[in-house]
Amino acid sequence: MNISKIDYEIAIVGGGICGLATALALHRKGLRSVVLERAESLRATGAAIGVWTNGWRALDQLGVGPMLRQKAMLIRGKEEHRCLKRSDLIEALAHGLPPQTIRFGFRIVSVEIDQLTSFPVLNLHNGGVIRAKVVLGCDGVSSIVAKSFGLKPPRISPIIERRGLTTYPKGHGFSNEFIRITEKCLLVGIVPIDDKLVFWFIDRPRLPRDSRVSREPEVLKEAMVEEMKDFPAEITEMVKNSDLDSLSYTQIRYRAPWDLLLARFRIATMTVAGDAMHVMGPFLGQGGSAGLEDAIVLARCLAKEICLDQSSNDRNLRIRFEFGLDNYIKERKTRILMLSTTTYLVGLMLGTSSTAKMLLILAIVRIFFGNPFSHAQYDCGHL
Ligand SMILES: Cc1cc2nc3c(=O)[nH]c(=O)nc-3n(C[C@H](O)[C@H](O)[C@H](O)COP(=O)(O)OP(=O)(O)OC[C@H]3O[C@@H](n4cnc5c(N)ncnc54)[C@H](O)[C@@H]3O)c2cc1C
Repeated sequence: MNISKIDYEIAIVGGGICGLATALALHRKGLRSVVLERAESLRATGAAIGVWTNGWRALDQLGVGPMLRQKAMLIRGKEEHRCLKRSDLIEALAHGLPPQTIRFGFRIVSVEIDQLTSFPVLNLHNGGVIRAKVVLGCDGVSSIVAKSFGLKPPRISPIIERRGLTTYPKGHGFSNEFIRITEKCLLVGIVPIDDKLVFWFIDRPRLPRDSRVSREPEVLKEAMVEEMKDFPAEITEMVKNSDLDSLSYTQIRYRAPWDLLLARFRIATMTVAGDAMHVMGPFLGQGGSAGLEDAIVLARCLAKEICLDQSSNDRNLRIRFEFGLDNYIKERKTRILMLSTTTYLVGLMLGTSSTAKMLLILAIVRIFFGNPFSHAQYDCGHL
C-alpha cells in the first residue's frame, strides 16, 4: 500500500443536508471535495423541515435560497419561516455540485490518523481505504467520525415523533400558520408547504408498547389515527389521508449542552458538523439550519487558510487546515451551545405538565436568551 498517496483533498462523510451543503459551500469557494455516502441514493427521511431566517440566510449564501423559496409558502410570523420538503432541499443542494462529487455505497466503518503522514485514513465496509487531507464528519446522529474523537453517543430523549405529508389535490384550506394542538400527552404540529401539501408531526412520550409496534407505514398510520380519536375530524382525516411513503417514526436524540461544552471537535485534520456534532431535539426546528450554518462557516474558514498557503508542502498545508478547523470550531461553539441549551429547555418545558415548572423554564429562557426567537435571527455571515 502506498502510504503517501492521497485520494482526496477534502472528504466529507455523509450526504445528508449538512454534508451536501458543506460540499456546495466548498465548491462555491473553489474547493473540490468528495461526499462519501453509505446509501445507494440521496435520502430525504423525515418528510419536511422547517427553515427559519437563519437557515434561509445560509441557503442564500449557497445560491439555492431563491429557487427553494418558490417551493415553500411563507408562514405568518415575525421571522422568515417556511417548511421545505426534505427531498426538495436535498436535491437543490446536490444539483449545485459538480458531477462525481457524491459517491454512493461508501460506508465508512472506522477512521484513523496515519502515523507517518498525520493525515486521516477512512476504512470502508468492503475493506477499501481512502486517504484524505481533511475529513469532515457529516454522518449524522450515529457518526463514526464523532465516535473516533471519543465523543459520547447522543442521549435518548423520552419523546418520539411521527411525521408525514398529506396532499390535498383540491387545496388544503389551512391558513399559512404553524398550528400546534395539544391533547392529553399528544402534541400535533401542522405547517403548510404550499397550497396543496401539508407537513405534520405528532409528538408524545415513548411508551413501552412502542418497542413492539412495527414501523411499517400502514401500521404507523393506523396507530396514529387510533391515538387521535379525540382530535377534530379534519386533523384525523389529515393523518388518515397521508402519503404512506412520507411517514417516519423517530426516537429523539440529543447531545446535552454540558456534553458539547466539554467535547473536543478536532483531531488532526478531522472535524464534525451537523447532527454528528450537535444533534438536538426538534423543539425549535433548528437542527438542520444549524447544519447549514456549519457548512458556511466551515467552508469560509478552510478557504481562508488555503488561500494563504498555495505551497505544496504537506506539513504547512496540514498546519493551515488545522488552524482553519480550529477557527470553525471556535466560531460555532458558542452558537451551538446557545441553540442546544434553548432546545433542551424548551424540550423540558414541553415535557412537563406542571404550570409552575413551565413558567420557571420560560423565565430562565427569557433571562438568559432574551427573545425566545433570537436564535432564528442569527447570521452566519458570508461564505
Ligand atoms: C423529528 C425531527 C424533526 C426535525 N425537525 C427539524 C426542523 O423542522 N428544522 C430543522 O432545521 N431541523 C429539524 N430537525 C433536525 C434535522 O433533521 C437534522 O439536524 C438534519 O437532518 C441533520 O442533517 P445531517 O446532514 O447532519 O445528518 P443526516 O441527515 O442524518 O445525514 C447523515 C448522512 O450520513 C450518512 N452516513 C451515516 N453514517 C455513515 C457512514 N458511516 N458512512 C457514510 N455515510 C454515512 C447517512 O446515510 C446520511 O445520509 C429535526 C429532527 C428530528 C429528529
